[in-house]
Amino acid sequence: MPTAIEIFKFLPKKNCGKCNFPTCLAFAMQLANSKAKLDDCPFITDEARAKLEASSAPPIRLVTIGAGDSRIEIGDETELYRHDKKFFHQTRYAVTIPDTAGDREVAAKLRRAADLRFDRVGQMLALDLLAVRNDSKDAAKFAAMVKRVSGESRLPLVLMTDDPAAVRAAALTVNLSRPLIYAASEANWEAMSAAAKELKFPLAVRHADLNGLADIVEKVRAAGVEDLVLDLMPSDLQQVVERNTIVRKNAVKKSFRGLGFPLITNACGNGQALLIALVSTMKYGGIVLLDDLNPAHAIPLFVLRQNIYTDPQVPIQVKAGLYPINNPGRDAPILFTTNFSLTYFTVAADIEKSRVPAWLLVVDTEGLSVLTAFSAGKLTPESVAEALKSSGVLEKSGKEMIVIPGMLTRMSGKLQELSGLKVVVGPRESSGIPKLLRTL
Ligand code: SF4
Repeated sequence: MPTAIEIFKFLPKKNCGKCNFPTCLAFAMQLANSKAKLDDCPFITDEARAKLEASSAPPIRLVTIGAGDSRIEIGDETELYRHDKKFFHQTRYAVTIPDTAGDREVAAKLRRAADLRFDRVGQMLALDLLAVRNDSKDAAKFAAMVKRVSGESRLPLVLMTDDPAAVRAAALTVNLSRPLIYAASEANWEAMSAAAKELKFPLAVRHADLNGLADIVEKVRAAGVEDLVLDLMPSDLQQVVERNTIVRKNAVKKSFRGLGFPLITNACGNGQALLIALVSTMKYGGIVLLDDLNPAHAIPLFVLRQNIYTDPQVPIQVKAGLYPINNPGRDAPILFTTNFSLTYFTVAADIEKSRVPAWLLVVDTEGLSVLTAFSAGKLTPESVAEALKSSGVLEKSGKEMIVIPGMLTRMSGKLQELSGLKVVVGPRESSGIPKLLRTL
């Protein structure tokens, strides 16, 4: 992103205020902070627009694969380290289906792919793509398998073939929504680029040497294909770390556009496929191609990804409010916790486990956990009393009792005074909740 001064050079310098800022310099400063749009100035020339848009393009191009609700986006990253801001587009995983696979094998893989879905702290973690691989080297067979897979799954596709004729055959057989073509190489880049350009599909480009890769990328871009994904062809874990880091560093820190594209790693046939997927997730991977993915491997992989791709400055939160658990009535007790997702889901699961009906009041603490929120003054007897009132729980529960987290003994007196409820200090660990609830 250019600085305010660099942007200012291209502005009309009329200081007319039509952009809602008093001067062109003020407007430039807002543009540099992404708080204004170039279109807000009616006097921008086409030449200035072209220059500013080119220099403000993200260091790593955003590439979309698929369409509609199931489409995925990769790239458009601006940081080398997650804690500097955040990572935007998470690593995606693809399971591969060879076009030589038998009917039952394909059906089983499609079923397993659809079942790879896990709810964790209110977010759905799932498989992202299916890759059809042209093992048969037969364009018609490949097209038939692409047709079957696209007909039976809504996941976006990767067309794994070196043969541009197979890509065209697949596109002729079935109406495909922006699948990723994998891949163009030194040997086939010209024909692959022509197919990708004509079909408007994104294209992966591969080469084991970064200079060689940059050369092919340049030629493919000159041929008119801009939506590219790069395969650096690492052969082991060390190369995944090294190559991915070099490319990311050059794109983000040195604004090297030649390799400013998201990355794809092919872990098929590799005995360390899961480790490669884990390391790719930690080191800037865009897509990882896998032969298969079983739930025991998928869960740690998805959870790692979830942890890396959450915003480090914004805790995952649930909506504050009243949550009835186990069908509570007037004789059910009230418990409260904070709206930090991990805390909420742990407490809610422990209440559910107890099978005791209860009202769980979730107090807005801006996503902070109990002790952090209390220490920061964001969870006070006053805020709990206010949440009790605004949630309407006092009309729903006649028990006249509230269970507070075990760490918050210090707020019990004041809360009792403000709410008029008997305060019961709960266990220090959520796992103790079921035992307590059975005694109330
Ligand atoms: S509208 Fe354009 S010319 Fe007028 S002050 Fe804003 S940036 Fe400057």
